[in-house]
Amino acid sequence: MSFPFEAPVSQSLFDRASAVTPGGVNSPVRAFRAVGGTPRFMVSGTGPYLTDADGREYVDLVCSWGPMILGHSHPEVIAAVQEAVARGTSFGTPGAGEVELAEEIVARIEPVEQVRLVSSGTEATMSAIRLARGFTGRPKVIKFAGCYHGHVDALLAAAGSGVATFGLPDTPGVTGAQAGDTIVLPYNDLEAVRAAFAAHPGEIACVITEASPGNMGVVPPLPGFNQGLKDLCSADGALYISDEVMTGFRVSKAGWYGIDGVRPDLMTFGKVMGGGFPAAAFGGRADVMAHLAPAGPVYQAGTLSGNPIATAAGVAQLRLLDDAAYEMVDAVSAEVRGLVTAALAKEGVAHRVQAAGNMFTVFFTDAEVTDYEGAKAQEAFRFTAFFHSMLSQGVYLPPSAFESWFVSTAHDTAAVERIAAALPAAARAAAGATA
Ligand code: PLP
Repeated sequence: MSFPFEAPVSQSLFDRASAVTPGGVNSPVRAFRAVGGTPRFMVSGTGPYLTDADGREYVDLVCSWGPMILGHSHPEVIAAVQEAVARGTSFGTPGAGEVELAEEIVARIEPVEQVRLVSSGTEATMSAIRLARGFTGRPKVIKFAGCYHGHVDALLAAAGSGVATFGLPDTPGVTGAQAGDTIVLPYNDLEAVRAAFAAHPGEIACVITEASPGNMGVVPPLPGFNQGLKDLCSADGALYISDEVMTGFRVSKAGWYGIDGVRPDLMTFGKVMGGGFPAAAFGGRADVMAHLAPAGPVYQAGTLSGNPIATAAGVAQLRLLDDAAYEMVDAVSAEVRGLVTAALAKEGVAHRVQAAGNMFTVFFTDAEVTDYEGAKAQEAFRFTAFFHSMLSQGVYLPPSAFESWFVSTAHDTAAVERIAAALPAAARAAAGATA
């Protein structure tokens, strides 16, 4: 397809980036490969808006892939960061900020009795898996096709969005030995989990699942699925790990746990808890966490873990996220979902909007999507046309059909009106798209 609204400054930055960085980006989905065209290089963000290097403003429906739940440059978060940065940027010692952030997490999420701070969601899941193996003395891990848990070697099999976008079923560089203890099962299929436990008695260290997946697009667990996982784990002596890197502190004060109440043994967090800085965490049962160094024998460490700027941003953001904030995000999410559905329905475009709390995806298919195969069966070419029409009208969507869209407390009436104004043409573009 052609891209009539190109961005010359972004293009020249992309050319320079491509000379010094593989593919021109530092995280693959940013490269627009799934949708084509020039990735927009952003220079600033305020509230619900991003401004690119060509000076064009966009309503942002990516929100840095989830973290910016208060919108960009929230004054109180910025003030907390400025106050922290004036005191120094890293000490390599314990600090008060990390205690405060850990206390915020423990206070909000009842199954988390103890928590360890890290710098990325990938580190959180990698460490949680190591801890589960160390605690149980067992080797095997069950994960689900379409769930992404970061680029952990053992968890990259059938890993959803980024990998789906690039059509790589697995990635070179991960050896058979690294992936050999990973059992990949279809999502929402409890029978498959039961069969795997039966086939490997006493060998499964943990089941790791996105609390409610967002990385094959939003595909919530069917009723009873998470509870079934928990029960199968408990019966076998395996740990149930709920990955809340995306849903944590986003879909409610207590994340997806606050919605389904299924009690994990371990949980992982990232994104919102860092206020836009690299902060992530894993935590859970105190008796399991006690196995972590220096309290116990399972090693885990990080030079910048609990960084004072990141923890200041995280604490400031979490303290602003009260019930009223979630009500606002939920309401704007429902409004945008309604507008998208109305516009696509008017043009007769087969679609399905699936939500998990305030996270949502527009799948270009009639059928309910309950697993990765269903997500892949959508007419993604319609999304490409839809995406470029929205982009050209100043609305920035995730550049892949396999992602969640995100809104914030800053998405006010003016921002929603801009989205509404762009939708009719985008829906027509989707209707007219060809594979
Ligand atoms: N787990 C989930 C559910 C995620 O969505 C992500 C990132 O999108 C990760 C883990 C990895 O987090 P990070 O990108 O911070 O390494």
